[in-house]
Amino acid sequence: MSKKIYLYGNWKMNNTFSETEKFFETFTPAYEPLKGDANLEVGIFAPFTSLWPLSQGAKKNGIVFGAQNVYYEAKGAFTGEISIPMLKEYDVTHIIIGHSERRHIFLESDEVIAKKVKAVLDAGMIPVFCYGETLEERESGNTFTVMERQLKSAIDSLTPEEVHKIIYAYEPVWAIGTGKTATPDQAEEVCAWSRKLIGDDGAVILYGGSVKGSNAKELLSMKDIDGALVGGASLKPASFLEIYTAYKG
Ligand code: PEP
Repeated sequence: MSKKIYLYGNWKMNNTFSETEKFFETFTPAYEPLKGDANLEVGIFAPFTSLWPLSQGAKKNGIVFGAQNVYYEAKGAFTGEISIPMLKEYDVTHIIIGHSERRHIFLESDEVIAKKVKAVLDAGMIPVFCYGETLEERESGNTFTVMERQLKSAIDSLTPEEVHKIIYAYEPVWAIGTGKTATPDQAEEVCAWSRKLIGDDGAVILYGGSVKGSNAKELLSMKDIDGALVGGASLKPASFLEIYTAYKG
C-alpha cells in the first residue's frame, strides 16, 4: 500500500477574507477528483482574519485547516496576540508553530516556541512544528547541532504520546520562498535523522522549502518524507494540488 501524503499549505500573510472565498470557488471543483483519496490529507493555514471563510471552505471539502501562530497564554494583557480558546471557536484543530519567519523576523526563541507547542497539545490540538537551519549554519557544518537544539527544546519535556501527536516540518531556511529546493537526498537525510532523534518511527515529518509540481515526485517519494508544507505554490488551487498529482504520476 502506498504511504499517506500530507499536503499542507501555508498562505503566510496572503489571501484576505474575500480572496479566501474566491480561492474556494476554484479549489472545490479542482479538489473533487482527489476527495476521498485515503492516501491524501490536505490542510490549509491562513491568516487569522481569513479563518472564517477558510473554515467554511475547508469543512465543505473535508480538509484540515488551521492558523499560522498562536500565543501560549489563554487570555490577558498581551496586546496584538491571539489565544488558543479564540481559535477553538473557529474549530481550528492544527496550528503552525515555530515557522522560520516567526523565528527569524519576529525573533521567537526556542523557549517561547516550546511553550506554544505545549499549550497547543494541552488544548487537544495539533502543532505543526517547524525547524531547520539557515544557509550560514549549513555551510559552517552546524545543521544537525542547530536542529537538535530546536527539536529537543520543543519535545524534551513531553510524553511519548504528545511527541507522537506533533506534525514535524523540516524547512531549511535557505530553501523557503527562494526557489532553491533541498535535493531529495538532503531532505531525506535530515528527515531520517529527525525520526531517530524524535524517537518515534511513526512520527509524521514533512519537508518544506520551494516544493512545487516539478519537484514533488522526487521529494515525496523519499522514505522518511511524509508530505510537504508548501508556501508559494499553495496560493493557487492548481499549483497546490498539482503537487499531489505529480507525486502520484
Ligand atoms: C513555507 O512557507 O513554509 C514554505 C516552505 O514556503 P515556500 O514553499 O514558498 O518555500
